[in-house]
Amino acid sequence: MPDYDAVIVGSGPNGLSAAITLAQDGWKVLLLEAKATIGGGARTQELTLPGFRHDVCSAIHPLGIGSPFFRALSLEQVGLEWIQPDTPLAHPFDDGSAARMERSIAETGVTLGEDADAYQRLMQPFVERWQELLDDILGPFPFPPRHPVLLARFGLQALRSARSLAQRRFKGRNARALFAGQAAHSFLPLEHIASASFGIVLGLLGHAVGWAIPRGGSQSIVDALAAHLRTLGGEIVVNHEVNSVDDLPSSRAVLFDVTPRQLLRLAGHRFPPGYRAQLERYRYGPGVFKVDWALDAPIPWTAPACHRAGTVHLGATLDEIALSERQSFRGQIPDVPFVLVAQQSLFDPTRAPEDKQTGWAYCHVPHGSTVDMTAKIEQQVERFAPGFRERILARHTINPAEYEQHNPNFIGGDINGGVQDIWQLFTRPSRSLRPYRTPTKGIYIGSASTPPGGGVHGMGGFFAARAAMKDSL
Ligand SMILES: Cc1cc2nc3c(=O)[nH]c(=O)nc-3n(C[C@H](O)[C@H](O)[C@H](O)COP(=O)(O)OP(=O)(O)OC[C@H]3O[C@@H](n4cnc5c(N)ncnc54)[C@H](O)[C@@H]3O)c2cc1C
Repeated sequence: MPDYDAVIVGSGPNGLSAAITLAQDGWKVLLLEAKATIGGGARTQELTLPGFRHDVCSAIHPLGIGSPFFRALSLEQVGLEWIQPDTPLAHPFDDGSAARMERSIAETGVTLGEDADAYQRLMQPFVERWQELLDDILGPFPFPPRHPVLLARFGLQALRSARSLAQRRFKGRNARALFAGQAAHSFLPLEHIASASFGIVLGLLGHAVGWAIPRGGSQSIVDALAAHLRTLGGEIVVNHEVNSVDDLPSSRAVLFDVTPRQLLRLAGHRFPPGYRAQLERYRYGPGVFKVDWALDAPIPWTAPACHRAGTVHLGATLDEIALSERQSFRGQIPDVPFVLVAQQSLFDPTRAPEDKQTGWAYCHVPHGSTVDMTAKIEQQVERFAPGFRERILARHTINPAEYEQHNPNFIGGDINGGVQDIWQLFTRPSRSLRPYRTPTKGIYIGSASTPPGGGVHGMGGFFAARAAMKDSL
């Protein structure tokens, strides 16, 4: 008899989701985590001063609150509480105004001037049927698609570059910039085919479910997943780095919440040469440089809309954002980085001592870069919020190399488990309609390096577990 039915390596959102899915089916599961705390890219720590709780990685969770897998778990019953910022996203300009993504498409349109109708025409059909659309896009290549007409309509818009979509659909600065900021979450140059898909998906989630933050920090999401796993009898061991698949307790299946390069190191000797070669060819993308601030007071934005927003995108125009993304993708340090800011403590008092605030911001930088971007990031904030620097009590910075230390899955600071361009979106980690299976019996991969890619949603782990369950029948 094997010691366990399944061993899961890595306790990121995908590892935890894989473990839960198997435990729900009655499997005896063991989850092993290298670090002292669970959660991978969803951990919260006092990085600056006592009482200031910062999200080390993920902060804003449209994919978390929208995840079909998380929704089915009712994580609210094990302590997860979603908070909806008044405005999901603000995008300020140099003239002191701002575009906004509000929960309502019509209210968003008010900030987009002449493009209000065009924005509504783009978003409305997808927002109305968001759950059906996610059924097809948050998983392996949908073959056959469950909702073919809807998916085709989505594909016509999404499989384009963000620049071409924004310039053809919208006439004005505001709508183009707002869309560019959302599309830049792809980490792709905005001229790349399929970069538009990220802008559409994040936009539709903003309207459908909100860009929510969890009370207490992103750690609360993984703590809720772990609590749920324990109620199902799952066992979690931290401070246990796995160095080879051969060292694991015996089990029917091993599921890896890691990226291809790590999978090669841990289990490569068990794979046939063809599969090994595919994993070796897998591409990683730009990294991130992040700053967390302990603040004396809220960020003094010029544009009033920014004070009500959970997320603020600093990049002014489509062209400015596009240049920054092109530079980081090509291995150059952006001259003026596109900066993503989150202001969790404005909506969640657990993040900072009374009357104090936290600030979270990052920009995209070349893969593995060690260049300190603190001054450039703070300059971008200061541009839209003069006097910001005077409010800083303490700061913590982290570069791509340090991210890889924090979490071995963030290779070169790539937080999405590999480039998410058209060639690797559905072929992660290999060209297969069943990407969660490896050719070796009993070994699976379910991580950001499998469809649907990066983000805190657990879908990769869920599908990997489903593959293991199917194979065991
Ligand atoms: C700055 C930043 C901002 C982000 N913002 C957001 C956001 O706002 N919203 C969002 O949805 N996502 C965001 N993300 C992305 C998100 O964090 C990741 O995409 C997500 O965590 C991937 O989940 P995962 O389960 O695939 O892997 P991970 O969360 O990376 O977890 C992998 C786990 O496996 C463990 N592990 C690896 N190797 C071994 C081994 N050999 N033995 C044992 N354990 C091992 C690691 O220690 C880690 O705990 C952000 C990330 C960063 C860094």
